[in-house]
Amino acid sequence: MNLEMYQKEVLQNYKRSSQITRVLTEDWFNREMYCPCCLNEKVKNFPNNQKGSDFFCEKCKNEFQLKASKKEFKNKIIDGDYKTMINIISTNNSPNFFLMNYQNNDWVVKNLILIPKFFINTSMIERKNISYPKGRTNGWVGCNFLLKRLPNEGRINLIQNEKIIDKFKVNAIWKKMFFMNSKRPEFKGWTSDVLKCIEELDYNFELKDIYKYENYLRELHPNNHNIQAKIRQQLQILRDNKILNFTGEGKYQRI
Ligand SMILES: [Zn+2]
Repeated sequence: MNLEMYQKEVLQNYKRSSQITRVLTEDWFNREMYCPCCLNEKVKNFPNNQKGSDFFCEKCKNEFQLKASKKEFKNKIIDGDYKTMINIISTNNSPNFFLMNYQNNDWVVKNLILIPKFFINTSMIERKNISYPKGRTNGWVGCNFLLKRLPNEGRINLIQNEKIIDKFKVNAIWKKMFFMNSKRPEFKGWTSDVLKCIEELDYNFELKDIYKYENYLRELHPNNHNIQAKIRQQLQILRDNKILNFTGEGKYQRI
């Protein structure tokens, strides 16, 4: 994989920086990017941005939307319309997301992160305040992705500080978490949120340690009235899918 996006002709032929970025990033994906879901050698781009996705894999049919930025992705990314995003999540129609961070002095890909579609859930969506964009009479509500709410498995590094991560490692994380894909939207959110809490604990932990996150989880799932039961259910799911070991008597170990 070559991390250089630079093409002299593109910089000469396009004037607007948003156009240059779009052309260079799309070309780079077509040329260099494999499918992280099935390791097909290439992803293709949709003609004219149909369906709100930018790329797809011919083999496994996964779709990808690209968010590219000169700034490194930290805690938040700006997304579009809030209602549209909630609707996409509740109907299980989210694409996967590629987050690309590049440098525009030499046009090199610096970081690339994959958010698997099954980690896109309502807990990681932040509703913005109503705004009144120019030329619109009625208000508009946008949203952000809160990356800080995702567990490590929900933000998979493909390129980190210009270092290319082994694609088999990338695919192994995808496959490990793929069981989430068949679950209901609300359930996926729970798995993601409980996993995030577990990652903040030691490798060995007890039920009472994870119960300390009860208030945090209640904030994310205000309609659930038995948070502890839900936590235990998710621990079972994580054990059944070999992400946790039960070591007996309310004791757990991350694998
Ligand atoms: Zn694929």
